[in-house]
Amino acid sequence: MKILVTNDDGIHSEGLHALADGLREVGDVVVVAPDRERSSMSHALTMHRPLRVRKIRENTYAVDGTPVDCVILGTYILQPEKPGIIASGINKGENMGDDVLYSGTVSAALEGAMMGIPSFAISMASRKDFKFKTAAGFALRIVRFLERRGLPKGILLNVNVPNLNADHVRSYRVTRQGKRVYGDVVCEKTDPRGGTYYWIGSDEPGFEREEGTDFDAVAQGYVSVTPLQPNLTCPVTMKSMEQWDL
Ligand code: MN
Repeated sequence: MKILVTNDDGIHSEGLHALADGLREVGDVVVVAPDRERSSMSHALTMHRPLRVRKIRENTYAVDGTPVDCVILGTYILQPEKPGIIASGINKGENMGDDVLYSGTVSAALEGAMMGIPSFAISMASRKDFKFKTAAGFALRIVRFLERRGLPKGILLNVNVPNLNADHVRSYRVTRQGKRVYGDVVCEKTDPRGGTYYWIGSDEPGFEREEGTDFDAVAQGYVSVTPLQPNLTCPVTMKSMEQWDL
């Protein structure tokens, strides 16, 4: 089976290669990844300029585009065969709660799910000293499961792994997407010529500690596995809207 591996940290990320190397045990891995870091690109698609693909070596390609571009081109490159599984990661940093909406790692898997291919995103909950081996080992378990059972159509798995050695991880939890608490989101500074510039993003955003969420599972030392879907409709509100008089 062909496994398409991509990420948003770029073709040189150790996390990408840890994932690809780990999955070679179970399938023919083809890596198609952005040629540079493309974190926070979400579901962006490059439509107003051409895309170039550079073959780095056998079964490894760098694209001057976004993670979603890579999934589309990767699937195209593999034609007529379709990837049996799409794996995105291993991201340097967690993708939980509202961050999921900004994440290129998650969106790559989302694109795969939209194509009807069993897909998952996998991220390390840390900022440094990444224990990629732990996540690569869990990715292997997921691929073995997906090979056997597949996934409901259009659903992807968002996996977040605590940055611990594998023997210190307390199994896994099926979770729901939690809630981020962002601090100062915009930082205003002055450049050397007196001009004002802005930098978006806070240093260490917090989260609401709520049982059953991705954040809670990882904080307790479990791998978090959240099923996600591309359809953002809220059925509960939709039902209550029957009473609205717009
Ligand atoms: Mn990233």
